[in-house]
Amino acid sequence: MISYKLSPHQQQVKDVVHWFAENEMRPLSMEADRLGKVPDDWLNKINQLGIQLNTSSFGDDKNGREKESGKKVKRERQANRLAVIATEELGWGDPAIALTLPGPGLGGPPVQSSGTPEQKQRFLSIFSKDEPPRWGAYALTEPEAGSDVSGIRTTAQKTAGGYILNGQKIFITNGARASWVVVFATIDRSLGRAGHRAFVVEKGTPGFSCTRLAKKMGIRASETAELLLEDCFVPEDNLLGGESYYENRGSSPSGFRVAMKTFDNTRPIVAAMAIGIARAAFEYTRDLVQKEYPKHGRFYHLASEKLACAELEIEAARLLTWEAAWKADIGQPNAQEAAMCKAYSGKIALEVCAGCLELLGPAGLDGQIVEKLYRDAKIFDIFEGTNQVQHLITARHLYEPYGVRV
Ligand SMILES: Cc1cc2nc3c(=O)[nH]c(=O)nc-3n(C[C@H](O)[C@H](O)[C@H](O)COP(=O)(O)OP(=O)(O)OC[C@H]3O[C@@H](n4cnc5c(N)ncnc54)[C@H](O)[C@@H]3O)c2cc1C
Repeated sequence: MISYKLSPHQQQVKDVVHWFAENEMRPLSMEADRLGKVPDDWLNKINQLGIQLNTSSFGDDKNGREKESGKKVKRERQANRLAVIATEELGWGDPAIALTLPGPGLGGPPVQSSGTPEQKQRFLSIFSKDEPPRWGAYALTEPEAGSDVSGIRTTAQKTAGGYILNGQKIFITNGARASWVVVFATIDRSLGRAGHRAFVVEKGTPGFSCTRLAKKMGIRASETAELLLEDCFVPEDNLLGGESYYENRGSSPSGFRVAMKTFDNTRPIVAAMAIGIARAAFEYTRDLVQKEYPKHGRFYHLASEKLACAELEIEAARLLTWEAAWKADIGQPNAQEAAMCKAYSGKIALEVCAGCLELLGPAGLDGQIVEKLYRDAKIFDIFEGTNQVQHLITARHLYEPYGVRV
């Protein structure tokens, strides 16, 4: 059975990240939203301080050991749990700033899980406080392939020493500023998913460009790029996992599997950020109701009931998310739990923010944080797979014992 009590180490991570969220992110939050960007000097400062808070940076501690009562004991891997605990605090601070913190971002997990030792060293070692701030990115979505990623049309044509990539990617978080982007392409569309490959395309590669930054309703300070690949030569060394990674698996859908494996680890992290948003709106509203409204009045009772429901939803979402992260840590399949926590957290983030706005009335609008959180929450039931898609994944598991494919 999993214990829901945070260990001293987990509590310490939560406290440190919360301190950062409250003192470094919150003061910047409304201004970054208004500007539609996170100021460069702030990013430089954070990078120089060596603050490694990017959601994929909580490290792989599978060989970790810690001292307990004076003697060394083997510690269970807990990178995924630390990531969700910390990310909830970052989401509480500001989700758009959280997505812009320097680091490999969504590009990190596929390199970590499928890269060769040489690729991991080459692409992941560039994120250091002694270097300027750097980012990684993950480019799967295309104009014709969003939820149905099997439909990607970006092509990778084999040539001497590498591949020629052609295609378009849209909605890519940090895609313009990234030092490298994990780009998914197909070597042969007739092979379906088995034809998918993942490439690490480096910034400055001829034929690789950003054509537009999207204007958005929420998470405005987070950069969302459209990328174009025009006869873009990518060396063999940048094929994620190397040629043998795909050859050894015969006709199995390896590139597709890289994409899906990434989601099983990242969906709980996205869920945690949504929970942080819901908690931020809830806490702001709870404190204001306590301060401003006469106790025991009719409104106070109404508000208490609504706030109690919000707290219940937040706690339920958190427990689902922790379970998905825990399963990832102990190496158990977690696709279903990852889909459920993502769907539920995205849904409740929107509902809690909407409920808080209703309670606050005019006090919640016009440049106030809850109005911004409401706008920010929407994307959490879209990216990393929409809610409907998470329900499909869950339904697939439901029907599996009956041999029915959904
Ligand atoms: C701000 C932002 C940042 C993003 N960052 C990234 C990133 O870094 N990298 C990346 O690769 N992508 C990124 N995305 C893309 C995101 O993952 C996609 O938008 C998402 O997967 C949905 O795809 P779509 O927009 O094409 O919608 P569609 O797939 O066209 O879906 C439209 C609607 O149809 C529903 N639908 C689709 N198929 C089904 C079905 N089979 N059954 C029931 N309903 C269905 C969907 O749920 C949705 O409501 C980002 C998007 C945004 C907006």
